[in-house]
Amino acid sequence: MPAIYMDYQATTPPDPRVVERMRDGHESGQGFANPHSVSHDLGRSAAAEVAASRRSVATLIGADDDEIVFTSGATEANNLAILGTCHDLTDRNEIVVSAIEHKSVLAAARHLESKGFVVRKAHVDAAGRVDMDHLHDLIGSSTRLVSVMATNNEIGVEQDIAPIAALCRNAGCLFHVDAAQALGTFAVDAYEWGADFLSLSSHKVYGPKGIGALFVARDARRHIRSIMFGGDQEDGLRPGTLAPNLCTGFGEACNILASERSDEIVRLVGLRDRFLSKLRERIPAYEINGTLTGRHPANLNIRFPGIEADQMLAMCEGRVAAATGSACTSGIPEPSHVLIALGRTSREANESIRFSFGRFTTAEDIDATVEALSAATALLDGLADA
Ligand code: PMP
Repeated sequence: MPAIYMDYQATTPPDPRVVERMRDGHESGQGFANPHSVSHDLGRSAAAEVAASRRSVATLIGADDDEIVFTSGATEANNLAILGTCHDLTDRNEIVVSAIEHKSVLAAARHLESKGFVVRKAHVDAAGRVDMDHLHDLIGSSTRLVSVMATNNEIGVEQDIAPIAALCRNAGCLFHVDAAQALGTFAVDAYEWGADFLSLSSHKVYGPKGIGALFVARDARRHIRSIMFGGDQEDGLRPGTLAPNLCTGFGEACNILASERSDEIVRLVGLRDRFLSKLRERIPAYEINGTLTGRHPANLNIRFPGIEADQMLAMCEGRVAAATGSACTSGIPEPSHVLIALGRTSREANESIRFSFGRFTTAEDIDATVEALSAATALLDGLADA
């Protein structure tokens, strides 16, 4: 029996309907052509495929088609938003990010420090919510760009995006939202949120890997430049030949979300509650990192006091596939910067595991996961007592 997959926030399994749609495109022989070479039918057909996919992505986030720039994923979209807007030094040389951003935002911002930009980090509270007073203090007439994620990839906390956009508007600076983890379980609306730029990733929403998008609001277009060179594709913002088949898969994943997301959220909340109530029966000493309200419905970041997360996962190996938030740098595991920002100690952070589930998770999977965790805890307790 394969291990129960509890790592949906690392990547979601592709939806079979997405795979089917991509296979059809592939087998029909349509769509292989270069979508930017439109002097013949084959090229035009590939271009039509890309256009239809762009429409699906745009519609899902309340944008217009020409505001969607396809990228290789959210890492590239984040880099494009940050490096593409901070390309020259002016009197606005500050970038404000939250302390719990994804590494692709933090590292891109850090890179700009070496070019003369100043990066400021907004604190979060124990639930993981951005401290609005601190953010307010950080944003000013020197701020070029603010980047805050909609849904965190480790603890699932969802930020209240519209008030952050309002702060940015008042200060006259640009606002980028990393919505990679939000699209699948949150009604992402770029205009309602007031985002100038918004990053998306297909493989977090049951689509293929290797494709994502950056929403570029029409009014913000003049503030961003390409960070790569060699072609005029994607309105000059992302040179290179697009992969029509990947676009098709991403578009189909968005079509499915458009019709099923709200029902799916209800089902996932049911699974999450089941997980917690079973866990309470079997391992009552657990603690939740973050908050249970305003959170991704299928993320649980759980601390098992006194048990190293790596040990726990090793005991569950082959039965449960979950992850810790720690990053391994030069062989030394570093505690998650997200959990540390919440006020957890390094030790507490290293006792924490992220469980993330989704569309194909069943109630039986939840029960079996808790069983495996409970058996592992009993064994580890036994070892500690011996
Ligand atoms: N941002 C967030 C919040 C993410 O969770 C991820 C993926 N872990 C990324 C960006 C990067 O996405 P991709 O894998 O599409 O580059």
